[in-house]
Amino acid sequence: MVLRMSNGAPKYAQVAVDAAVGKRLDYAVPDELRGRLRVGSRVWVPLGKRKVQGTITAFPAEPSFPKLKPIIGAIDSGLVVPPNLLRLAHWIADYYMADLGATLKTVVPASVRKPSPPAKRVRVVQRAVTLDETRKACVDKRRRAPKQAAVLDVLLNTTGEVELPELCRRADASAAVVKALEKEGLVTTAHKRVDRDVTRGEVFVRTEPKTLTPAQQAAYDGIVRQLDEDAPRVNLLHGVTGSGKTEVYLQVMARVLERGKGAIVLVPEIALTPQTIERFKGRFGDQVAVLHHRLSGGERHDEWRRLAEGRARIAVGPRSAVFAPIDPLGLIVVDEEHENTYKQGDTAPRYHARDVAVVRAAFEHAVVILGSATPSLESYCNAQRGKYELFELRERIDGKPMPAVQVVDLGRQKGPTVFSAELLNAIEDRLKKGEQTILFLNRRGYATTMKCRACSAVVECDRCSVSLTYHKKSDRLVCHLCGHSTPLPTTCPKCGAGAMLYRGVGTQKVERMLYKIIEGARVLRMDSDTTTAKHSHAGILGEFKAGRADVLVGTQMIAKGLDLPNVTLVGVVMADTALGLQDFRAAERTFQLITQVAGRAGRGEVPGEVIVQTFQPASHAIRAASKHDFRAFYDQEIEARRGALTPYPPHVHMACVTLRGPDEKQVARSAESLANACRAQTEAGVEVLGPSEAPIARAQREHRMQFLMKSTRPSKMVAVLRPALEKTKIPSTVKVAVDIDPVDMM
Ligand code: ADP
Ligand code: ZN
Repeated sequence: MVLRMSNGAPKYAQVAVDAAVGKRLDYAVPDELRGRLRVGSRVWVPLGKRKVQGTITAFPAEPSFPKLKPIIGAIDSGLVVPPNLLRLAHWIADYYMADLGATLKTVVPASVRKPSPPAKRVRVVQRAVTLDETRKACVDKRRRAPKQAAVLDVLLNTTGEVELPELCRRADASAAVVKALEKEGLVTTAHKRVDRDVTRGEVFVRTEPKTLTPAQQAAYDGIVRQLDEDAPRVNLLHGVTGSGKTEVYLQVMARVLERGKGAIVLVPEIALTPQTIERFKGRFGDQVAVLHHRLSGGERHDEWRRLAEGRARIAVGPRSAVFAPIDPLGLIVVDEEHENTYKQGDTAPRYHARDVAVVRAAFEHAVVILGSATPSLESYCNAQRGKYELFELRERIDGKPMPAVQVVDLGRQKGPTVFSAELLNAIEDRLKKGEQTILFLNRRGYATTMKCRACSAVVECDRCSVSLTYHKKSDRLVCHLCGHSTPLPTTCPKCGAGAMLYRGVGTQKVERMLYKIIEGARVLRMDSDTTTAKHSHAGILGEFKAGRADVLVGTQMIAKGLDLPNVTLVGVVMADTALGLQDFRAAERTFQLITQVAGRAGRGEVPGEVIVQTFQPASHAIRAASKHDFRAFYDQEIEARRGALTPYPPHVHMACVTLRGPDEKQVARSAESLANACRAQTEAGVEVLGPSEAPIARAQREHRMQFLMKSTRPSKMVAVLRPALEKTKIPSTVKVAVDIDPVDMM
């Protein structure tokens, strides 16, 4: 009997340790732990001389090595990584060529992996006597002790307990007042454990489902049929801002909940505003957990637990919310699916949350809705090929037409070209009428660069190979890559000549120029320089919305977000800042940007107007965007991506391999050998391009080289890279980063 039991319990365990070691390790299960561990259990294991944490990923029947070290102990955090997330982590580690331990660290947030923090406790207050007695006491006290009366008033108007801070706030009284009432025996207080729900205590106005328009209904029916027939698919919901996409999400979510399943809603970080959260909480109340990156560890822990235990069944959050512990999962919504912020580019695993969402949904038999006004070429192409279902919402709910877009050719302007006559006239016209203008520029700072009049050298950061940007307020040159700043040079650092020129325009300069050109203009500026303090993003928008400025100048931060009914003019000061980039997605970004910015104009009663200034008025991105014609843009762009020499996504998959290190020669040599080792595997169906200097060839004092790979299948590129990395001798000072399906290749 005893023998059979211990035979049944696994003796060996495969563990993915949290420290990135590049492989899974086997350990022996000591007697005292036998039968107590599961796949997903968290354990302490020895690694060299260290003791590290890890996750059990399997129980192999045979040990990989005769003498295995034993597991040190189980981590008593109550956490077992859910099997569905473990499976997803395996897929991510394989597809993106990332370490499984590092991937698990991304999938399960640190605050959840740690032993649970002490629960938050608050004092709650309740009436201690009957309603009538309380009422009487309240009347008695009105004169003598008005604060005490106010507290009783609040308690009379609520049922049950009220949290002490909330009670004090509503009665405008201090805790001492409540204490006095407690002494008198009129109220009782108690300590209570509560979830650190981010929006706990806030009241959300309940909203009811709206009667859908025919276009919404068609999308809703099509998607709900997939739920009913248990035949989930990926759905692309293409509709302009304000066409009612969110209402479709909400009503499909309601059906998912009815069927006893949960849903995940991904929104771009920048769109995770109180207004957005309110739309979901307003419909589903406490069922919604918000997974914000600004949450404290404890709050995040509690929200995660609420989902894992099924007390909340809807997760709303940025890209990492794709890992929300929901089971069973019925739906994943990816709003603004084209957004680049869904890709984690800077640290491994370099995953794309939209693509992970599609895979997770396939594993867990869930429906996906990808929503956008400007779908990515990848997603629209999948819809064209029938891989995804396509639904279109062609009109705004309010029936308002899309604003007229005027393209102004900056090449034809005389003199300085920051403001064309057309744009200036339009701004002045709005000022006279008391209407508002938004000016958009994808570049912060004052002037872009400082250039030498004699040798034409541009002043660059001495740690990074990017030009420095002049900031007027600090009167310094700032590196937008590493943040390092230097005083203005009086002479050219290259040739020593004494004549430095400012070149280009940034948001700061636009702001200054407006003050000068248009008398009495009230201008606000919003970019990452003015929004460093915690809430000033909302603060600036609030001021603008309240009409305390005529013009709002900003970077892409203002391209999305609030409805601003009084904005009737949107100016794109320079549409070419994205077009000029050495990136095959430049045209796509320009199209998205103009479309999004245009969506800000004319949300109120007055029709909106958009003026786009550009040096390339004939480019297909600008022409199609000015006609609000996504399809025309897509058709031309998908052809352009076939490429003259070599195709680009979505026709192929790409990988970008970046090598960096302090020694230029070492980096170059390593990149050369690694690329050659990949190229040598000719039978693999993988094209290798490069190596060459990375677009930013130096960053934080490190040299950077990169090469690109292309293949119809990402797995082929990984299959080529793995052996190449093993074969190639790369010095330990040279770091290699592999980015599969990169979106940003700087
Ligand atoms: P999107 O997500 O495409 O930007 P929303 O779903 O936010 O669009 O809809 C825009 C506005 O129209 C919102 O104020 C929303 O409440 C409202 N709305 C959406 N669908 C309907 C409908 N069927 N009837 C009336 N109002 C609607
Ligand atoms: Zn720098």
